[in-house]
Amino acid sequence: MEAPLEIIRSARERLGKDLVILTHHYQRPEVVAFGDFIGDSFMLAREASRSTARIIVFCGVHFMTEAACILARPDQQVYMPDPQAGCPMADMADADDVSAALQRIAELVPHRRIVPVAYINSSAAVKAIVGRAGGLCCTSSNAQAAVRHALTQGDLVLFLPDEFLGTNTAHRLGQDTVPVYNPHAAPRADGDQPTSGGLAAGDLENAKVVVWKGYCHVHTWFSPEMVAAAREKHPGCSIVVHPECRPEVLALADGSGSTAWLVEQVREASPGATVIIGTEVNLVLRLAHSLCPNMYRTTVSRLARLLQSFPEQNRMSVDPSVTADARLALDRMLALA
Ligand code: SF4
Repeated sequence: MEAPLEIIRSARERLGKDLVILTHHYQRPEVVAFGDFIGDSFMLAREASRSTARIIVFCGVHFMTEAACILARPDQQVYMPDPQAGCPMADMADADDVSAALQRIAELVPHRRIVPVAYINSSAAVKAIVGRAGGLCCTSSNAQAAVRHALTQGDLVLFLPDEFLGTNTAHRLGQDTVPVYNPHAAPRADGDQPTSGGLAAGDLENAKVVVWKGYCHVHTWFSPEMVAAAREKHPGCSIVVHPECRPEVLALADGSGSTAWLVEQVREASPGATVIIGTEVNLVLRLAHSLCPNMYRTTVSRLARLLQSFPEQNRMSVDPSVTADARLALDRMLALA
């Protein structure tokens, strides 16, 4: 039996330009080492849309591979080393719940024009609903630009599924209080006012952004106490965090930004400086030398097994009935750059 490294090397030789391997920054360092392109979800979505390779191997989680399938040409095939690697945050926005939310918010504030913005961490079915409703996708690198764009198309943005990225983005755009739509909220007794998702019309009165109640368990693990403890331990350090962290954490950090931005901060730091990064552990490990178990599922052995025989169960596809509308939402995001 050939060793995994041998299998990967010979598959690369055999396939040449027919194969491209995309790896997310949060993958294990030994998997990242095989990436033709290493990036955050925005950069990888763009590379997937530009790739001329016949076979795209995506080392990441399910929603990223779906985005690659949506953007791929019909003659391209997209594979994942572990098709079970999902994203719990993406699963927090069910397509039927998103359709219902758009309808219910419209009933609460019929005079407002609602435009949805879906974080790329969402299913293809959710992206399709967003595309159909005139909205667009975003990543953490372009969330502000996406919300600003959406506000040129309407006057109330439903941001989903990440409550914290949505809230932090709304704060940056000057909105202090950000209402949260909770698809599982029990009906609220609010006098004569109709309510939905835990909200009444009055809650949306002055809002430009309403956010979905969803979160990333990796990024919400960071607390203000951790930031304070890090400052005490490393006086003079610089603390930078991902915008999926809670607003209380962002308020105490020195800066926040997408995964690509975090990488940049470390690259640009002066020699000997201490930069503390509040994000997924694999990125931190790789930059210096919190853990997302889903990102961790992709191993070198699984990558080798895939490249050896391209099993059908590793081939990814998206329901053709949602592809065109989901593509609209992704293309609108790519046009922002
Ligand atoms: S780090 Fe968070 S958002 Fe990213 S895949 Fe894991 S659970 Fe999803």
